[in-house]
Amino acid sequence: RFPIQRKLKLAQVHKQRKAKRKKLFISRVLAMATNTQDQQSQAGRHQEVGHKSLLQSDALYQYILETSVYPREPEPMKELRELTAKHPWNLMTTSADEGQFLNMLLKLINAKNTMEIGVYTGYSLLATALAIPDDGKILAMDVNRENYELGLPVIQKAGVAHKIDFKEGPALPVLDQLVEDEKNHGSFDFIFVDADKDNYLNYHKRLIELVKVGGLIGYDNTLWNGSVVAPPDAPLRKYVRYYRDFVMELNKALAVDPRIEICMLPVGDGITLCRRVK
Ligand code: SAM
Ligand code: CA
Repeated sequence: RFPIQRKLKLAQVHKQRKAKRKKLFISRVLAMATNTQDQQSQAGRHQEVGHKSLLQSDALYQYILETSVYPREPEPMKELRELTAKHPWNLMTTSADEGQFLNMLLKLINAKNTMEIGVYTGYSLLATALAIPDDGKILAMDVNRENYELGLPVIQKAGVAHKIDFKEGPALPVLDQLVEDEKNHGSFDFIFVDADKDNYLNYHKRLIELVKVGGLIGYDNTLWNGSVVAPPDAPLRKYVRYYRDFVMELNKALAVDPRIEICMLPVGDGITLCRRVK
């Protein structure tokens, strides 16, 4: 009886081990499939939401928006966001979470004299206008006045349009003019740059003179849809590929610029804050 019992026991152990191995195999296959799905949805997500999320998942981003951004979003900003959502180039707009961030940042640094390069329909402009005091100023520049005028009625209704000096046209000549006059040197508390990425380094050369020591320049989209870490042969949209090298060049230059302290934040499509120290 003993050898038969032992044989049965061995067979049972063998069966259990086999079942365990099978279970392990299935869980590994499932894990691989899930990972692939994750990677695929990640790739799809970036295409779908463009610049809006570099987070782990859409659900997490949605959680931020629904828990702490939308419930606190000022009514005019909501109205402007919804109006902009209907515009064909709405991918360009600043996201609501970044708008909230800018609004708080400006209040924290008590910004009064500010500048914005790249206005579009004015979401970040309105976030700025609502944050600065009643006698605060924003020199706002964009080559396109039409889009600015789309959002302008909302800005006027919010009672903050008097703070804005909008200049239509390329920003660089305006900056050159400002730099020429020494009284503008070190006069800006905050500058938000959200326009043509191939000019960011040209802007930086001038803006560093115009921002005050202790003031901030925010360069937007410095993670450029995540493309800054994409392999050279990655399938990127044409404009993403075109501007990627400029963004990477800017990131390298800012990282070694001794005149500033920097902080690159994964908010929106990445914003690099530069605090002038000399
Ligand atoms: N900050 C805006 C917002 O919150 O909706 C988004 C700005 S959008 C990403 C970029 C803008 O830069 C466009 O409206 C475009 O017309 C403007 N732009 C492009 N090249 C420019 C230039 N050389 N000077 C000034 N604005 C420029
Ligand atoms: Ca932007």
